[in-house]
Amino acid sequence: MEVVRLRGLAVSPGIGLGEARLSERVVFTSRRETISDNQVPAELKRLHRAFERTKEELQKLKDYIEEQMGKDQAFIFDAHLMILDDPMLRSNLEKVITEEKVKAEWAITTVNNHFASLFESLSDEYFQQRKTDISDVLARVYRHLEGKKEKKEDLDKPVILVARELLPSEAAVYLSQKNVMGVVLDMGGMTSHTAILARSLGIPAVVGLHDASLKVKAGDFIIVDGTDGEVIINPSPAIKREFNSKKERYQNYKKELKKIARLKSLTLDGVDFIPLANIELPEEVDTAFSFGAEGVGLFRSEFIYLRRPTLPSEEDHLSIYRQMARKTYPRPVYIRTIDIGGEKSLPWLNIEKEPNPALGLRAIRFSLRNRELFRTQIRAILKASDRHNVRLMVPMITELEEVVELKTIVEEVKDELRQNKIPFDEEIPIGVMIEVPGAAVLIDSIIQEVDYVSIGTNDLIQYYLAVDRGNEAVSYLFKPHHPAVLQLLSHVIKTVNKAGKEVTVCGEMAADPLSAIILLGMGLRHFSMNPIFIPRVKKALKEVETRTVQEAVKQALKLKTATAVEEFMIEAIIGKYPQAFFLSRFGS
Ligand code: PEP
Ligand code: MG
Repeated sequence: MEVVRLRGLAVSPGIGLGEARLSERVVFTSRRETISDNQVPAELKRLHRAFERTKEELQKLKDYIEEQMGKDQAFIFDAHLMILDDPMLRSNLEKVITEEKVKAEWAITTVNNHFASLFESLSDEYFQQRKTDISDVLARVYRHLEGKKEKKEDLDKPVILVARELLPSEAAVYLSQKNVMGVVLDMGGMTSHTAILARSLGIPAVVGLHDASLKVKAGDFIIVDGTDGEVIINPSPAIKREFNSKKERYQNYKKELKKIARLKSLTLDGVDFIPLANIELPEEVDTAFSFGAEGVGLFRSEFIYLRRPTLPSEEDHLSIYRQMARKTYPRPVYIRTIDIGGEKSLPWLNIEKEPNPALGLRAIRFSLRNRELFRTQIRAILKASDRHNVRLMVPMITELEEVVELKTIVEEVKDELRQNKIPFDEEIPIGVMIEVPGAAVLIDSIIQEVDYVSIGTNDLIQYYLAVDRGNEAVSYLFKPHHPAVLQLLSHVIKTVNKAGKEVTVCGEMAADPLSAIILLGMGLRHFSMNPIFIPRVKKALKEVETRTVQEAVKQALKLKTATAVEEFMIEAIIGKYPQAFFLSRFGS
């Protein structure tokens, strides 16, 4: 059998081995079977029975997922139950059966095609998703018409799930099964729903493989290397042995990480630092803490919007923030107001397509333009703050006026709550993200207006060096150690420290051991990152003395290129603290 090796995006680390299981979609019939007049009532009855069974099945799935993975993952089944209960859907199907005198299977095909072409003309991602949701529900009804249950698998046999893409409902169901050892998808990116879920469940995943699902046959043996982004179809025994041993090494490495996670966050000369987690879902909190997070430094709240079929209500916001606050208590959670706009368009938000979304109406700009939405979110954040561990954080501040406006709105909402005698944290810390270079230069004035700042280096570097953070073609220029970037970061960190306020770095940069050491040398003490990287950063910071690092950074800031900075710093650190980069990368 030919061995095929494919490269994709490593979105959830670890090594998984098992037999391919292709996600199976129901293929609707293409046969238009007619019935006689007097068969119509029986056919309608058959349809109704299938509806009832589908409803029972969805309800059961919802309860199961809620129990296994929490309420938030189960929301998709509410959406599907709503679609199933929609009288329009049922009457459309009945109409086709009665008027055309056809079997229910054909009615489903017709109605599915109707919705597909209706939504096809709308290229919007949101409508595409609704189309797949309707199809998903109709497929269930179809299966019940045929009396087929969803195939029950042998739940002990290790499998690798292979699919073109996974619907959120499918991801929730499949990934909660204990025998799923890995996920391989043609589509998707780092922040796709499946990637996030796989990471939080610790299932290795490689996505963005274009046509892997066409190359794999059911039963093929697959290796998923979610650490290096490789997928191997039908490996030779020697390759299997190699990856079994890589898997073992990764598991030992993970054990090592967890050990470090439990140690105190102190540098070699006894200076405290605080590792925090960047997360997108409340379900990720426990994993984050197991990796040593001492709070949630960035909760990207836009995921609440992106995962829902309709506009979230204040209650929807509140239930998620309460969950976050409860899970992290007594440690802090920094809830960032939505960073949405530009290309993340949602129909109910009326976002217009913009020629230059990264420079357009996103984040705080969008929120200030959509006041009611913003107030709803702020009200929910304030209400969730009654345990005093919630911080309010606002992305993409450009100028001082925005900060003043933000504070006015927060004060107005606080007043409303006071009048209604609703408890909240009167002293809730309000902070802004420094992501726009102009705001970084103005930090001296901005810090006077807020309680803390968090530096979003992903965007700050993108804007300062004019390098699209998502464009492969220019990624070689995305350099966190570019002397201009380092000088700007040093300016912000020093100014905020001098003002006696708190500063965090929450961009990817904080997750890199060398960068973290450099930031420590600039005076940074709060590091927020994807939780899986906390142990390696913690290990690096625990191995060094702040005094020495400070001196080295002072010298490094005078250098002219990123390469010169890196060479100088690595030499300065490794020479004195040979263990600092010990856990830098798995396998090295
Ligand atoms: C950043 O820009 O560095 C950041 C943390 O925010 P996001 O990645 O969500 O834009
Ligand atoms: Mg950002």
